[in-house]
Amino acid sequence: MKFNTQLLHGNAIKRYPDGATLPPISQVSAFAYETAQDLEKVFNNRAPGYAYTRISNPVVDSFERRVCELEGGKGAVACSSGMSAVTLALLNILEAGDEIIAGSGLFGGTIDLFGDLKAFGITTRFAKQITVEEIAPLITDKTKVVFGEVIGNPGLDVIDLKAVSEFVHSKGIPLIVDSTTATPYLVQPIAYGADVVVHSSSKYINGGGNAISGVIVDSGKFSWDNKRYPGFAEYQKYGEFAYVAKLRNGIWRNMGGCLAPMNAFLNFIGMDTLGLRMDKICSNALELAKAVDGLNGVTANYPALENNPYKPLVESQLNGMGGGILTMRVGSKERAYQLMNHLKYALNATNIGDVRTLVIHPASTIYIHNTEEQMRDAGVYADTIRVSVGIEDGSDLIEDFTSAIKDLD
Ligand SMILES: *Cc1c(COP(=O)(O)O)cnc(C)c1O
Repeated sequence: MKFNTQLLHGNAIKRYPDGATLPPISQVSAFAYETAQDLEKVFNNRAPGYAYTRISNPVVDSFERRVCELEGGKGAVACSSGMSAVTLALLNILEAGDEIIAGSGLFGGTIDLFGDLKAFGITTRFAKQITVEEIAPLITDKTKVVFGEVIGNPGLDVIDLKAVSEFVHSKGIPLIVDSTTATPYLVQPIAYGADVVVHSSSKYINGGGNAISGVIVDSGKFSWDNKRYPGFAEYQKYGEFAYVAKLRNGIWRNMGGCLAPMNAFLNFIGMDTLGLRMDKICSNALELAKAVDGLNGVTANYPALENNPYKPLVESQLNGMGGGILTMRVGSKERAYQLMNHLKYALNATNIGDVRTLVIHPASTIYIHNTEEQMRDAGVYADTIRVSVGIEDGSDLIEDFTSAIKDLD
């Protein structure tokens, strides 16, 4: 089965009650049983079933299984948001005194989070890019994880997953990647050696911009050595399921970062068209990047452009596609605002992965809490516009952007 067929008919798709073609939305907090004994069994994982939606729920389960299959993982856990997924994926393995190595071209909220984790004794060392050369000097005895985005948002650096995962594994360290911008349609990071994959499923997986959510997928392949990861001692018995068992029975359940049933359903129906949308979005983005690059003082950054340093990785690792985001440098903040205000179709909104094209000026919005240096490292300048390309007709988008650019002062 290829991607779209697997999406619609894979193992994760079950028979639902009454022949329904989609999972029912179990919009409940709790599940009742005939007897106290029955509930006791379910509660203590000695019988299959659901007890309470913070811990598990059928439609959430259906969503998790589907993402897990697409990513080729062992288990998946859905979360209330992408930030909750990033946070819990890391806290599941970290303790006070531990260090994270992270790329600097990350989503602004994730960089902010690493600042917040300092109060809990967890420090982050930033590498300009997640490459073997950049991370090697940052590794210490305390390094417990390397974290990066497969395609950085908004830096648009691409991680060489195979090279980096081989290197970090040789040091006994796992690689956790945020693959929100790449999606499983471009790459399954686990097949290239990543140990855990997280998504803000608010973006491309949902696709319609109608629900906030996140998901964590574990490969089951990393061996969590008790000396380096003492918290895993009691979970060794779960073998390949150790990471997910620890997450479900620990920090995820107790912090209460569960996904709402209705939002799981919205993701479930949205992801039916993930492959179709990504095809259209990636071809629109490439055409748009080509059309605006070099026009009236504008330069475009897009991984699939011929002159982009990541073009070879786009070919070898991302199925030839550059994703749905491009950034443009337009000369000044004034010109950036002038361009954004002139566009007919692109909405001024802080999101990505919508079917509608969205634009934002990152320096005055998403990056407002970050330092100048953090902005530069993430490829954000005063004149940078980020475009999240939608599924409109490409020729209309190109006409809209090129005429706005030609009119710039
Ligand atoms: C949006 C985003 C997040 C955060 O996700 P939310 O669902 O908004 O909490 C994390 N990582 C990346 C790459 C994102 O684009």
